Amino acid sequence: MNLIRLLNDEKCFSVIRELRWPDGIQCPHCANPYVTKQGRDETQPFRQRYRCLNCQRKFDDLTGTVFAGHHQPLRQWVGCLYLMGLNLSNRQIAQWAGPKSWTVSSRVPNSGDLNPENLFT
Ligand SMILES: [Zn+2]
Repeated sequence: MNLIRLLNDEKCFSVIRELRWPDGIQCPHCANPYVTKQGRDETQPFRQRYRCLNCQRKFDDLTGTVFAGHHQPLRQWVGCLYLMGLNLSNRQIAQWAGPKSWTVSSRVPNSGDLNPENLFT
């Protein structure tokens, strides 16, 4: 059974948001926490768009992360993060996630935060 195939996109985006913004959504350009929702991506219906109320710039769930320019399906990345979270330290995951503005917080996926019942629907 391929676990990654069982991930749904909605869950993937909520995992990304949780990892990226554990304390609430922030503008990736100016770090302002006051943002408004601006609809969804046309091709990825669970990819939320936002507009910053401070600098007025638009961004979405993946802007500024290692996932933004990648062609691999998001669920593949989240599947990796999830599986790695079971075995690897925060530091190793942070190294894997790369040097971009994406930072892995102390709340990495673990069996408590993301249990398979919730993640794989
Ligand atoms: Zn801003």
